[in-house]
Amino acid sequence: MRIAVFPGSFDPITLGHTDIIERGLPLFDKIILAIGTNSNKKYMFSLEKRLQFLSETFKNEEKIEVKTYKGLTVDFCKSQDAKFILRGLRNAHDLEFEKAIGQTNFKMSGIETIFLISGSGKSHISSTIVREVMRNNGDYSFMVPPAVRKK
Ligand code: ADP
Repeated sequence: MRIAVFPGSFDPITLGHTDIIERGLPLFDKIILAIGTNSNKKYMFSLEKRLQFLSETFKNEEKIEVKTYKGLTVDFCKSQDAKFILRGLRNAHDLEFEKAIGQTNFKMSGIETIFLISGSGKSHISSTIVREVMRNNGDYSFMVPPAVRKK
């Protein structure tokens, strides 16, 4: 079984995430959407809410599981028997950042990170911008899946 972990904060999940996840599906037998919990980070949405958004968005997709984890992503991958990490790249900044993490993860575990570049028209979307628009009562509906729209 080719199992990939797609790790992230998903605060909240956006159409940028769903684009990468859906395009990753043909590459793997299973994708585990893994919400990392970092006690130093302040989140807008509770873990329960973020889990609910992900589960609802992919409720009809048999190859997707949603889980939460603490600690190193590579340790979580090992616990799930996942040999791959799936990540998205929006721009050169993401590339530089992800490169170092991917290289470190590979050194630590031999787990390969598979990168997909944002679909056209998706690279402007980020959870940070969605949260900013939400806080200021703007229209964010074009950036998020239906589960988040009706939050
Ligand atoms: P993190 O806190 O780990 O950055 P995010 O939830 O922000 O978690 O992102 C998880 C993954 O989704 C990352 O690989 C990120 O690059 C990717 N991603 C986020 N937004 C987009 C987008 N618009 N297009 C492509 N990939 C994206």
